[in-house]
Amino acid sequence: MTPDLFGEIDPPQRLLMGPGPVNAHPRVLRAMSADLLGQFDPEMTAYMNQVMALYRPVFGTANRWTFLIDGTARSAIEASLISLVAPGDTVLVVDFGRFGLLLTEILERIGAVIETVSAPWGQVVPLADIETAIARTRPKVVATVHGDTSTTMAQPLAGLGDLCRISGALSYVDATATLGGMAMQADTWGLDVVTGGLQKCLGGPSGSAPITISDAAAERIFSRRHVEKGIRRDDIVDGSGVRIGSNYFDLAMIMDYWSDKRLNHHTEATTMLYGARECARVALGEGLEARFARHAAAGRAVVAGARAMGLTVFGDDAHRMTNVTGILIPEGVDGERVRARMREDFEIEIGAAFGPLQGKIWRIGAMGYNAMKHKVLITLGALESVLRAEGFAVPAGAGVDAALEAWGA
Ligand SMILES: *Cc1c(COP(=O)(O)O)cnc(C)c1O
Repeated sequence: MTPDLFGEIDPPQRLLMGPGPVNAHPRVLRAMSADLLGQFDPEMTAYMNQVMALYRPVFGTANRWTFLIDGTARSAIEASLISLVAPGDTVLVVDFGRFGLLLTEILERIGAVIETVSAPWGQVVPLADIETAIARTRPKVVATVHGDTSTTMAQPLAGLGDLCRISGALSYVDATATLGGMAMQADTWGLDVVTGGLQKCLGGPSGSAPITISDAAAERIFSRRHVEKGIRRDDIVDGSGVRIGSNYFDLAMIMDYWSDKRLNHHTEATTMLYGARECARVALGEGLEARFARHAAAGRAVVAGARAMGLTVFGDDAHRMTNVTGILIPEGVDGERVRARMREDFEIEIGAAFGPLQGKIWRIGAMGYNAMKHKVLITLGALESVLRAEGFAVPAGAGVDAALEAWGA
């Protein structure tokens, strides 16, 4: 076998306009090629502290506990729930799509008592319904998703924290798909634990998950740990003596590692940390408000472009995510053939869908480094060409013209 058997990694230059991952910002990729450091090297721990400082404004928080989980976004979801929720605790899941269901699946494994308040796919859950459900179920934790990419809907979060506080519940929010692209005000909205990922609006690769934790939630998490003589042991129990079901995702242990104690847990993923650090620097350098406006312009342009092409946009207009748009696959058009042609002829990836929306919609994302005018216009122009080739009559140029106009100045 020659060492060259498979060749160097040299992927095609695809434009990733689906629900994530998206193309990483070149600055992030450059940061990730920097040399490695030992995990307790003062330079490395200084970078860790910088990451904590950089992600506070990204989450809209002053929370001391703002750091990274090593893993994809799902790892931070699991770490949060497994560390906050003990077996037998009641958790209210505010569910309006696939990622609400994921919260339920993780909570089932924990042995939580799960209550749900849901909305049909394509809508969000009214705050009044959440209030009623909290009063009815008296949960210890209320868990929800900010932007659910499966349905392209964004759940309004203002007011949720107050409802939780009044009833003594902690809140958890999966903001993977919106962080860095839509406003996140963890402190103003009174949210306790919020988690993200890099490969959506933050414009990095998947594999690192930012998290922020309020003091109240940190207290709950630390109340379940046991430290002896500065040595962490795998004997983390909750008040009832039940072991926390994960060592890797035990937030108390991870927080001891990110604290001045630097108690060894895992080896911090150096290269991912460099990437996450640069994602936040890029976002803050642009300015969060400007960044949200850019994602909003991209979303408006995709919606206007799709409608001008005679396509129907999926879901409730009032609660649309700005960064991912669902478009109904027209009658008689083969959705997968369209996606294949987009990829093969134009090097553009758009998303399919799953669950009840499988085969019914495409999902076009414009996030992070890809929420740019020219990338949206190129995608719509390509879609027009492909739709025409597939026999769906599209008025020539209408989608691109409408998108350009909707983008604004
Ligand atoms: C993409 C996404 C995830 C999953 O992220 P991974 O990095 O693949 O684990 C979780 N939640 C939401 C809302 C997402 O959009």
